[in-house]
Amino acid sequence: MKILVINAGSSSLKYQLIDMDDETVLAKGICDRIGLDGSKIKGSNFKGVKFEKELRMHNHTEAFLYVTRALTQGDAAVISDMKEISAVGHRVVQGGAKFNKSMLVTDYVIKGIEELSDLAPLHNPAHVQGINACRAVFGDELPEVVVFDNAFHSTMPPEAYLFPIPYEYYEKYKIRRYGFHGTSHRYVSARCAQLMGRDIVGTRLITCHLGNGCSITAIKDGKVIDTSMGLTPLDGFMMGTRSGSLDPSVIIYLQEKEGWTPQETDVVLNKKSGLLGISGISSDDRDLEQAIAAGNERAQMASRLQRYQIRKFIGGYAAALEGVDGIVFTGGIGENSSIMREEICDHLGYLGIHIDHALNNEFVHGKEGKISTDDSSADVYVIPTNEELVIARDTKEIVESLAK
Ligand code: ADP
Repeated sequence: MKILVINAGSSSLKYQLIDMDDETVLAKGICDRIGLDGSKIKGSNFKGVKFEKELRMHNHTEAFLYVTRALTQGDAAVISDMKEISAVGHRVVQGGAKFNKSMLVTDYVIKGIEELSDLAPLHNPAHVQGINACRAVFGDELPEVVVFDNAFHSTMPPEAYLFPIPYEYYEKYKIRRYGFHGTSHRYVSARCAQLMGRDIVGTRLITCHLGNGCSITAIKDGKVIDTSMGLTPLDGFMMGTRSGSLDPSVIIYLQEKEGWTPQETDVVLNKKSGLLGISGISSDDRDLEQAIAAGNERAQMASRLQRYQIRKFIGGYAAALEGVDGIVFTGGIGENSSIMREEICDHLGYLGIHIDHALNNEFVHGKEGKISTDDSSADVYVIPTNEELVIARDTKEIVESLAK
C-alpha cells in the first residue's frame, strides 16, 4: 500500500510518498511560494534523483497537479499512475478538544477543522485548502485521513491543561493548553520504549523536541500528562524566534510603553524573540554555535538561557512524573547538537542521570541511539523524529478498517 503524506502550509505544500510494505520513502518534496512570485517545486526520490523547477502555482490545486506530475513523470518518477496511491494522510496542526484521534476526512471533519481556525489562524485554513485541493485533483473516491498535531496531548488532566484565569474564559473561548508537536512526541516516545525493551505502560518519559519550534512533553504509560506548548506554540521555553512563557505583565507593560497593537505584540513575541531576540544575531542554533566559538557574549547568553530553561522543564516534568525512566532528544537541534545535549544532561546528575560524552558526540546527522552511561538512572536517547511515518501508519490503519 502506497500512502501520500501531505503537510500543507499557507504558501507551501510538503509531500512524501511512503510504501507501507516496508515503510520506505519513495519520493519527497516541497512546493514553495504557492500564490507568490518565484513559486517552485523541488524534490527527490529513493534512488537519489533530485529535481527543482520554477513553475507558476496560483493555488494548492495547481501545486497538487505538479506533485502528481513529479511522482509519475520524468527522471524522478516512482509510480506510473496515481491510482497506485491508496490514500492520502494530511497533517493538521489544531484539532482542539474536538478531535482527539486521527480521522477519515468527511464534510463534518473539514467543517470542524475550519471552525478551529481561530485557534490556529495560520495553519488550519491552509490545511483545509490542502484537503480541498487534494479532493479536486484525486476525486472523492481516494480516502483522505487527517492526523492532528495535538491529538496525542488530549490525555492531559485538567491540572495540566487549565490556565489559572477565570474559568468562564475556558468555557467561553476554550482557552486551555492544547500542546503541539504531538505526532513527533508520539513517535519518539513509542520508539524510545521499544529501544529500551520496555512496555510503554509503566514507563515514564520526557521527550524534548528541539528545533526552530521547541516543546517538551511528560509521558506516563504512553499518555501525555503535560506538555510545554499551550494554547498556541508560543508557550513553554525560548525557541528560535519565540519567547516562550513570560511574566504576563511584561506584555501589558510593553504594550503601554511601545503602543503595540495585538498584531505587533504577536510579531515581537513570535518572530523577534527567543534565540534571535537575545543574541541579536540569528535564530539558528548553528549560527549561534559559530558566534559562541568566536567569543560573542550575547550568543553565549542566548544559548545559556535556553539550556537553563530546558533543564528547568526536565526537572519539573521529572517531578510531575514522580521519576523518569527515559529522556529523548529529537528535532533539528536535539538530533544534531551534541553540545546542547551535553550542557543539558551534565546538569542532571542530581536525578542520577549521566551521559557518555563520546557516545553523545557520535549520535548526530540522523543517527539513533542511547547516549547515557550504563549506571545512569534513566536512559537518554537521540531519536530522529518521523512525523510523516506516524501520519502514514494512521492513514493505513483507518483505510484498512474501512475495508473490513
Ligand atoms: P523546525 O522546527 O522548523 O522543523 P528543525 O527541527 O529542522 O526545525 O530544527 C532547526 C534547528 O536545528 C535550527 O536551529 C538548526 O540550527 C538546528 N540544527 C540543524 N542541524 C544542526 C547541526 N548540525 N548542529 C546544530 N544545530 C543544528
